[in-house]
Amino acid sequence: MAPSPYVDDARDIKEDNPFESMMSRFDEAARLLDLDPNLYTIMRWPNREITTYVPVFMDDGHVEVFVGYRVQHSFARGPAKGGIRYSPDVNLDEVRALAAWMTWKCAVVNVPFGGAKGGIICDPHQMSPGELERLTRRFTAELIDFIGPERDVPAPDMNTNEQVMAWMMDTYSMHARHTVTAVVTGKPVDIGGSRGRRDATGRGLLIVSNEAVKKFKLNIPDTRVVIQGSGNVGGTAARLMHEVGYKVTAISDIYGGIVNEKGLDVPAVLKYLGENKTLEGFEGADRITNAEILELECDILMPAATENQITSKNAHKIRCKVLAEGANGPTTANADKILADAGVFVIPDILANAGGVTVSYFEWVQNRMGYFWREDVVNERLADIMVASFNDVVRFAEKHSVNARIASYMLAIDRVGSDVRMRGIYA
Ligand code: NAD
Repeated sequence: MAPSPYVDDARDIKEDNPFESMMSRFDEAARLLDLDPNLYTIMRWPNREITTYVPVFMDDGHVEVFVGYRVQHSFARGPAKGGIRYSPDVNLDEVRALAAWMTWKCAVVNVPFGGAKGGIICDPHQMSPGELERLTRRFTAELIDFIGPERDVPAPDMNTNEQVMAWMMDTYSMHARHTVTAVVTGKPVDIGGSRGRRDATGRGLLIVSNEAVKKFKLNIPDTRVVIQGSGNVGGTAARLMHEVGYKVTAISDIYGGIVNEKGLDVPAVLKYLGENKTLEGFEGADRITNAEILELECDILMPAATENQITSKNAHKIRCKVLAEGANGPTTANADKILADAGVFVIPDILANAGGVTVSYFEWVQNRMGYFWREDVVNERLADIMVASFNDVVRFAEKHSVNARIASYMLAIDRVGSDVRMRGIYA
């Protein structure tokens, strides 16, 4: 058998490698499901990994070559689906983990997609709009044979946005010689984006938090919420949670956080952040670090920034009832065990932040129909799927006496495995 790139010994995982964290949970869930050995062998591998070297004319006339990845983890349930990230920290193991999480996430919310993820090693904050456009277009051209509405449908992720998706859609369409809106999601609404997509991940977090509040018989006005990150996910979740009456007591950005135990004036915080590009100097709250924010006593803790924030080093200091994971992979596999022992109810990333991909699915459907839905229709359909998925995971956890993290992996692996089995193995 070819050597697998995947970890063989879940007991010896490198804690800060998100791919190994993901695989150790996969292995545990597969073992508990007693997964057919042939399915197990197949599902431990991604379908395809593309590495491409992308030349770009920089503004001063010299050429730089950027390394880009697209990992297509699974096509078993439909086209691969997942975001594109621009960051100096991008690496193949991170993209592999994120691609696999997309497969499991789409299966948890039962949308007909597989999983993929892409990334380019670059520092977008040091690049001009022209350089970013040329980088995006050439990367799209390199991927042209591998993406498409029936093949693989990219979306925004960290440091990519609606404009980047517009460039990708346009480049793909120029090669196809006609406009193909469904090749990417997360586009501007005017050129085929879905109403409600911008808020969808934050709205999904609100919906699953509401379900957890019901489950634990909390009441919303007394429920203290702490959010790490104030970008698309964290900022939107803060706004929506505040609107329905939750007490958001702390929030952060990359430079640190602010806390007010009586509850923050969230619209004022977001206005300040929009104007100043930092939370520093906001009046009416105390300053804390990004490490301290995670250790605040609260009812719902929402890490919505990046990976590996809750690890074996700080998990025993976490003082929340519910951990709702806005980011992908904010908690390591080693930390899971500490949180489970402490009785923290984890709403795992592949469920909690699945609102984004769910509305991306709606965008793809609307593009293919050429008929666009009202925002209230999008939000209602999103709520139906998020509530049903939350309940599916909770029922699976109870049935198999496992925590919600492992239950969500088991549910996803069961669905993907059953589809692979039904299609048959073309070997
Ligand atoms: P974003 O760039 O809009 O915001 C990220 C936020 O985190 C910012 O407030 C930033 O200051 C902060 N941050 C970044 N690096 C940090 C660090 N090292 N320490 C502390 N804070 C840091 O990104 P986003 O779209 O909000 O995504 C956040 C997370 O959610 C990522 O893990 C992403 O993969 C995940 N996610 C996003 C979506 C989506 O629809 N945007 C969907 C599902 C999951």
